[in-house]
Amino acid sequence: MNYADIKSYDVANGTGVRVSLFVSGCTHHCKNCFNQETWDFSYGKPFTEKEIDFIIEACKPSYISGLSLLGGEPMEYVNQMGLLPLVRRFKEAYPDKTIWCYTGYDFTEYILPKMCKEWEFTPELLSYFDIMVDGKFIEEEKDLNLKFRGSRNQRIIDVQKSLATGQLVLWDEKGAFF
Ligand code: SF4
Repeated sequence: MNYADIKSYDVANGTGVRVSLFVSGCTHHCKNCFNQETWDFSYGKPFTEKEIDFIIEACKPSYISGLSLLGGEPMEYVNQMGLLPLVRRFKEAYPDKTIWCYTGYDFTEYILPKMCKEWEFTPELLSYFDIMVDGKFIEEEKDLNLKFRGSRNQRIIDVQKSLATGQLVLWDEKGAFF
């Protein structure tokens, strides 16, 4: 897996101050995507043990709420494979900090019924995620007033509650501690 960028202080992509990783590679090609250079899977630099160490260290301060995964598309097959060692280490080191993952794939139409059944990494990866913001960016649905998402069709999903209940549970911002 390649990555485009790592931000150590991100306040736009999830709650609180977060460390954000922008992976390379996306097959969705949404119109007016904010990050088109990351469509190419070979864009940026290789994501190695060194980057994992850097991110784990960057997440250490108490003011860091957690880790956000963006792209590109974190849920492309090769990116799931590349992210697994990172999220395993993150949750082991910081069980009380959260992981937000942004994906263009639909959680209920594709990730749960297809990826989870057909791809070996997906169930474990989802077990570490707290929040997924799903759906492609749709220009016609764009709304600058939305928090943590770009277009109205995108949903902020409580992954663990959805997995536990077997149905879609949207993030309850008021009741959330993360
Ligand atoms: S899913 Fe995200 S990175 Fe991929 S094309 Fe759409 S907006 Fe761009």
